[in-house]
Amino acid sequence: MSEVNPYQSLRKQIDEAASYLDVSEGQIERLKTPERVLETNLSVEMDDGTIEVFRAYRSQFNGDRGPYKGGIRYHPQVSRDEVKALSGWMVYKTATSAIPLGGGKGGIIIDPSEYSEAELERITRAFAKELTPMIGVDRDVPAPDVNTGQREMNWIKDTYETIENTTEPGVITGKDISSGGSEGRVEATGRSTVVAAREAFDYLDKDVDGATVAVQGYGNAGWIAAKLISEMGANVVAVSDSSGGIYAEDAFDPVAVKDFKRETGSVSDYPDADRELTNDELLTLDVDLLIPAALENAIDEQLAHEISADVISEAANGPITPNADDVLRDEDVLVIPDILANAGGVIVSYFEWVQNRQRFYWSEERVNEELDETIVNQFWNLIEAYEDRDLPSLRIAAYVVSLQRVLDAGEQAGTWP
Ligand code: GLU
Repeated sequence: MSEVNPYQSLRKQIDEAASYLDVSEGQIERLKTPERVLETNLSVEMDDGTIEVFRAYRSQFNGDRGPYKGGIRYHPQVSRDEVKALSGWMVYKTATSAIPLGGGKGGIIIDPSEYSEAELERITRAFAKELTPMIGVDRDVPAPDVNTGQREMNWIKDTYETIENTTEPGVITGKDISSGGSEGRVEATGRSTVVAAREAFDYLDKDVDGATVAVQGYGNAGWIAAKLISEMGANVVAVSDSSGGIYAEDAFDPVAVKDFKRETGSVSDYPDADRELTNDELLTLDVDLLIPAALENAIDEQLAHEISADVISEAANGPITPNADDVLRDEDVLVIPDILANAGGVIVSYFEWVQNRQRFYWSEERVNEELDETIVNQFWNLIEAYEDRDLPSLRIAAYVVSLQRVLDAGEQAGTWP
């Protein structure tokens, strides 16, 4: 995996897109820089009575189009620059999706597998206490990300509501249904990844039915994407997680692989696999569709030369480095950028926020239909920009379209003081 700094990747992506727009140096700098970053050290009591200190961040990148919006991840690789990059990608993701939200992101440097549930609750509530003055239903609305889910969102909501002496479920999204969560939220990231892929196949006149698929990462986004694309008739022939990859010529049953991972902790050693794969072997398989669903920088320049997939739908944030992106562009691999492909998570978070504010809840069918429609509309909108403006890639098209939306909002607001 490459050591490319994700914040530098974001800045490069924005510079490239800005060269197609009429925008001043000062405006570009503003669009590449977070408005503010909270850095905090959480002192938390462990089960054995000792104190441990955890570094945590929340970056509020841009709020021109609405409240800052974005997840909170728990991972040993979290860093200030990673959180800044991820918060910036959220700005352009909400703008590409045309939902009225800005971008933010948070993270704690931690390997959550090393802590008990009670410790994780205290760590999460300590972070929620730090976040409370800066978040709010109209201010900044966190959500799940890598290694966080409904459980953590419920704790954060409860801490916030207790301190503020209110009920405000829309302060955070990705909650449990009984705590005000939305139907379809858990599946939303994986769903948008495959809906976008389905549209890309249509654009290329390729059939999803019978197509071969490789999925890197078998967390929430990866496994749901595998399940939904196989329901569309595709053959998921390779999957992996951090322990390694597996291959099956005749395709996996994604649900059975998920059950196996739930029991054993990983996908490797799955009994119905033909053979094991390394991470690089999985990414370079000759498949119709590759879904990177793990972390940033999974595909660097060197690996990009060996990619054989026709279409890549980015379920992860930032899985392709900018130099790798150039190689894939030259080799005519159609890359559906993360800021559209995995936008389902934040799009359904938006639906959750709308339902929370109205205290009126939608059916799963309605959520899925509205999500499908949003991705389809914005996918073809990007294709139009890509073709009409003769842009080099769908990623650049997504940044050109979304930068313009953020610029327009900023311009209407003006500067103050
Ligand atoms: N963490 C997800 C993302 O990277 C979802 C964010 C949200 O729902 O606000 O898009």
